[in-house]
Amino acid sequence: MTEYEAIIGLETHIQLNTETKIFCACKADSWGDPANSNICPVCSGLPGVLPVLNRAVVEKAVLLAKAMHAEVQSDSYFDRKNYFYPDLPKGYQITQNDHPIALGGYMDLPLPDGGTRKVGITKLHMEEDAGKTKHEHGRRLVDFNRCGVPLIEMVTAPDLRSADEVAAYLIRLRQLLRWLDISEADMEKGHLRADANVSIRLKGETGLNEKTEIKNVNSIESLRTAVEKEIARQIREVEAGNAIEAWTLDWDEDTQSLSKMRSKETMADYRYFKEPDLLVVRLDEAWESAILADFPELPLARRERFVREYGLPEYDADILTSERSLSDYFESVNQAYGGDPKRVSNWLMNDVLRLLNEQGLEAKDLKVTPGYLAEIIKLVDANTINTPTGKALLEKVQQTGQPPKEIVEAEGLAQVSDTGLIREIAARIVAENPDSVEKFRGGKEGLMGWFVGQVMRESKGKADPNLAREVLEELLKG
Ligand SMILES: [Zn+2]
Repeated sequence: MTEYEAIIGLETHIQLNTETKIFCACKADSWGDPANSNICPVCSGLPGVLPVLNRAVVEKAVLLAKAMHAEVQSDSYFDRKNYFYPDLPKGYQITQNDHPIALGGYMDLPLPDGGTRKVGITKLHMEEDAGKTKHEHGRRLVDFNRCGVPLIEMVTAPDLRSADEVAAYLIRLRQLLRWLDISEADMEKGHLRADANVSIRLKGETGLNEKTEIKNVNSIESLRTAVEKEIARQIREVEAGNAIEAWTLDWDEDTQSLSKMRSKETMADYRYFKEPDLLVVRLDEAWESAILADFPELPLARRERFVREYGLPEYDADILTSERSLSDYFESVNQAYGGDPKRVSNWLMNDVLRLLNEQGLEAKDLKVTPGYLAEIIKLVDANTINTPTGKALLEKVQQTGQPPKEIVEAEGLAQVSDTGLIREIAARIVAENPDSVEKFRGGKEGLMGWFVGQVMRESKGKADPNLAREVLEELLKG
């Protein structure tokens, strides 16, 4: 069996989460708004208007460039990319062609085998989005809301080798974009779009063969499937003696299949020239250092530090750094708690994450402040409350925003560690359930859990379960 490898590069379009569009004052995010409700003469291309560059777009582009280890250019220019399409009222798109905001760079992509792949970045450029068209009742409708929405296009070198690596790259990119507060990076909403260039070659070869481009995929999972299918198709073609042609392939989400869209345009078709209505983007040192003044520790560096500094397992560190506010939260709780960081990690990974998922929140929005969570863990450590009560308390603090100790006092949640009281409850349960007692004594030791459960229920969850077990063992075995 001949062995092939896939050569994949990604062209990503990142929608920036700026307030306004790139060249006008219309709001940037009009997801869900009625068609053509968020447009003005500038972004809909009326004659005689002039674009004005949004500073925030440059600033976010510089942050991303820095995170990708790219070389930020002190001078960059906008170009017109000329083409006709109904969703492009101006007849050209303002983009950066010859002199983009940043060149080169890479992303370190952790691989499942523990290694790291440096995925090269060829360039990053700023541009405006085009509108949208759709077919409805036999007519073609256009919506210009997206015209002028700020994008960064980032192109990778053909450094990815499988559909899984494509997915892993996009997951890391999405994490980074949210971490830096550059983009919502939601593929379903088109905040992050990725086209994949796919070719194959025999393992050991170094040249590049003809590639195809996969477009219109709107989730990471679907892109993984699409790339997998395209690799399999190319192998089948080559094995059958057919040549791969440079097709553009359209992904159909409903049928989960690819179909040929059109032959690729060549570069010359667009007749790029410098945008005469915009000045050079000059990024002097003062501006660049102001942008980078609060540049955060990045997720992979933080993950590595969590392992080193707190002695956390890699698995924990990876989850805790999946999102910036969660990792900040972990550090704050840990500081307030002052005990074993793994104990804090367990609370976060089991209970806090479940709460966040259920309520669709980020850690920074929790009413359970880091100080409150530290307090809850300490109450459990001190046996003032038992673990199930601690978990219930977490939810109550989140509902009410009240300090944990107040709730424990007001609701009388403190654990019953009074042996006399527990013995009384346990004795009653033993007396009321002679059948179960007989079965237990006859060897069904698994029933102990049931007995403990009864004591917990009778005490309304407040009994110390370890103490209950001790007392029951005494009563049942004696
Ligand atoms: Zn506008």
